[in-house]
Formats: sequence, structure tokens, C-alpha cells
Amino acid sequence: MSLKFRADVVVAGGGPAGICAAIAAGRLGCNTLLIERYGFLGGMSTIAGVYPWMTFHTEQGRQVIYGIAQEIVDRLVESGGSPGHLRDTIGFVHTVTPFDGEIFKLLVLDMLREAGVKVLLHSFVDEVAAVGNRIKSVRAATKGGKVDIAADMFVDATGDADLAFLAGAPVFKGRDSDQQMQPMTMKFRMRGVDTPAIKERILAEPENFYPKTPIDELHELPLTGIQGFYREWQQSGLPIKRDQVLLFVGPEHDEVLVNCTRVQGLDGTDVEDLTRAEEEGRRQVMMMARFLKECIPGFEQAVISSVAPQIGIRETRRIDGLYSLGAEDVIEGRKFADVIAKSGYPIDIHDPSGAGVTAAWIKGDGAYDIPYRCLVPRGVDNLLAAGRCISTSHEALATTRLTPSCMATGQAAGTAAALAFQAQVRPAEVDINELQQALRRQNAYI
Ligand SMILES: Cc1cc2nc3c(=O)[nH]c(=O)nc-3n(C[C@H](O)[C@H](O)[C@H](O)COP(=O)(O)OP(=O)(O)OC[C@H]3O[C@@H](n4cnc5c(N)ncnc54)[C@H](O)[C@@H]3O)c2cc1C
Repeated sequence: MSLKFRADVVVAGGGPAGICAAIAAGRLGCNTLLIERYGFLGGMSTIAGVYPWMTFHTEQGRQVIYGIAQEIVDRLVESGGSPGHLRDTIGFVHTVTPFDGEIFKLLVLDMLREAGVKVLLHSFVDEVAAVGNRIKSVRAATKGGKVDIAADMFVDATGDADLAFLAGAPVFKGRDSDQQMQPMTMKFRMRGVDTPAIKERILAEPENFYPKTPIDELHELPLTGIQGFYREWQQSGLPIKRDQVLLFVGPEHDEVLVNCTRVQGLDGTDVEDLTRAEEEGRRQVMMMARFLKECIPGFEQAVISSVAPQIGIRETRRIDGLYSLGAEDVIEGRKFADVIAKSGYPIDIHDPSGAGVTAAWIKGDGAYDIPYRCLVPRGVDNLLAAGRCISTSHEALATTRLTPSCMATGQAAGTAAALAFQAQVRPAEVDINELQQALRRQNAYI
């Protein structure tokens, strides 16, 4: 017989969205359980080396994400795990937020404990037991055998909409034309990098770098990111479908995170594709590190200091929700009566098959609203989605998927799950005013 747990709210997936969902539900007094397949929390930020977080601000510099996401940043700053929000020296967004992944892993365990959340690590959810349209329990595979976890409300924060998929709810993948998804990237870090030498090179030949690089301010700013080295990249002839070098500095002064590998045409929910992607990603890491050492100033003495435990997955399944956020909603900076989060991050699509990135900026006040209906899936009566798998088009996902907005939709999903549990109603019936008031009380910005 399998081990059994019971909770009011179960959150599956311990990434940025799941952490914030569980903290929010726990703080509202619900008996909350968070399930994570790895031995640590953090999702792509720790599993795939994603760094830095971007962005809490609009292009004009107005902060539009607060709440638990900002609390995490504040507590990281207090413990020496982040310098806070810094100007983006690439100029793609206004600010980026560097963080120390190891300090983050432990901090969020503290915050979950303070919120009274029970955490189960090393538990992979691979079954859902439903009666009619309601999930009764999920089943996780663990070293000790199967574990059943029953609850009234569930939050799918798996990034891949695993709960919705396993419950038989409709899900979508990729772009409408051919279902192709954004590429995967194996991230890695190098240390021993002479970052002042890179800055000098940018100042000496700005035309070889991203056109929005704030050259005039660069002398004064700590270097946070570098995009360009177009000439060196073109001459390299490397078999990686990209058009430039993309690096982020920190947390240490001689350390960079390399975001350059690209594995295309594979599906992050297919075991054989994932296996191929991990091998291809690691091959590209070695090629890329050699290229940086041989061709890019400042890397002469650099060494690989870590490679992400797992390849980074930008896009897989997303739920079919009561509303699907579209590209126009984002670009027009559209506002919704049932707003539960905002974002100022532009649409940023890494080409599923080509070498480039398609970007589109937000008009108006520089922020768009994410409506509550994007978190409510069709077909299941006691489930909410949070983070990367909420209901959007392929294009809109290319902004909602960023870490700060995943934290914000996570907080909203956890809060809504708690309210639905306490009122004994379906998530679709949650009083939107009550939800918005609860979010405001928790310092969320809506
Ligand atoms: C290559 C790449 C570059 C990126 N660059 C940036 C960037 O520079 N800045 C930025 O802010 N964002 C960036 N992002 C986006 C961001 O990292 C993710 O979209 C974000 O982490 C999504 O958060 P999430 O909590 O929804 O999902 P995830 O971070 O994917 O977390 C999901 C969690 O659920 C767990 N899980 C999954 N399935 C199960 C299951 N069945 N059972 C139990 N646990 C499960 C996973 O192990 C994981 O911990 C990047 C992403 C990638 C892949």
C-alpha cells in the first residue's frame, strides 16, 4: 500500500511559480504541500542555471512586480545573495536582478517553512486520480515507492502543465502554424573572466554590440550583460544556430553565465528528445567555451566553473484556460478587470528553427496585465495553473514565461487556491474583487 498525505492545497512543481504559490496559500492558513521532483527548489533558476531574473520593471524603469517576488529579492539582498535590481547594460530591458542560486535554494526553504508549507522533494508526479472533473489526488514516484497526495485544490506549477495533461484537460504546444517550440539551451558558467577587458572592448567598438547597449552610461554602470561580438561570432563558423554572443556577469566579478547554446526542433516532454537534447547541449557547451577562450577578449584565462544540471526548457505545454493572453494584448499594454499580475518584459521569441530572436516592445505605460482567467484551465474544476504553463499564445508565452512574472502568477494562483478552498467554490467562481484585495494586502502590484 502506498504512503498517503492529505492537504488543503497541493502545489506541484517547486520552481519560481510553485514556490510563490505555496508561500501564498500557506500564509493564508491553508494546509499546503509542495511537491518537487529534484532534491532542491528553484526550477529553471537552479536546475538550468537561468540567470539573471528579468525584469521587475517596465522599459521606462517603473517597477510593476512586487509581492513575494520582491520579498525574495529583499531577503537575498539582506543575506548577500543579490545586489538587487541593476541597470541592464545590454539595454534590452531596464533592469536585471542577479542572484546567487545556492543562497536562493536555501532561502526559499526557509520562507516555505515560515509559511507552514510541507515540502516533499525527490517526488515526481506522474499520475492524477480524478472523479468527474475533480482531481482527488496526485501520485508521485519516490525512492520508497508511490506516494498519494490528496487535496481539495491543486496548483499546476510544473512548467509543463503536467497536472492538466495527466488529468486529461486540453493543452497546447508551440506556435499555431507547426507546433514548433522555442529552443532549449544548456547554460554554463565560466570564472577567471577579465570583465573590465570586455567593457573596454564594448566602449572601443560599440557597433559590434547590441544597438540598445547604453554606451554613454557604461563607464558608470556595473557590467551586468553583454550581447554582440557579432564579427567574432560570424567568423567562428560554429554549428550553433545563433547570431550573436549573449553573456551575463556575476554574481562574482570574474564570473559569467553563458546563454549561447541552442538545441532546436525537439520536444521537452518527449523522453527521447530530452535525452538527445542533453547530449547535444553538453557538446555545444564545450565548443562554446573553446570559442570564448580563443576569440573573445577577457576569456584568455577563463575556465568552465559549472554546467547546468539539466538543459533549460523555454516552452512545452500550456493550458487551455478561460482566456488566452495574445501578442496584441501584450504589445498594446492591455488592461483587464480581472488583472492578477503585470509585466513589463517584451515579447522575446528565440526562433524555434532560425538563428535569431524576435522581440516586440510594450506600448502605452510599458506594462500589460495578466488576467486571472489565464490561470483557470478548462476541463478540471479544482485546478489552477501558474508560471510558464498558464494560458497564452506561443507569442505571449515569450514574455509571461520570465521568472519575475512566473513568481507573480504563482502568488496569484496560490492565493486563489486558498480562497477557493476556504469558500468551497471552484477556482472559476472565486470572487475577483476578493482575490485582488488579498493580493494587494500581500503587496502584489496590480
Ligand atoms: C534557456 C532559458 C533561458 C532563460 N532566461 C531567463 C532569464 O534570463 N531571466 C529570467 O527571468 N527568466 C529566464 N528564463 C525563463 C524562466 O527561467 C522560466 O520560464 C521560469 O523558471 C518558469 O518558472 P516555473 O516555475 O513556471 O517553471 P520551472 O522553472 O520550469 O519550474 C518547474 C518546477 O517543477 C518541477 N517539476 C516539473 N514537473 C514535475 C513533476 N511532474 N513532478 C514534480 N515536480 C515537477 C521542476 O523540477 C521545476 O522545479 C529562461 C528559461 C530558459 C529555459
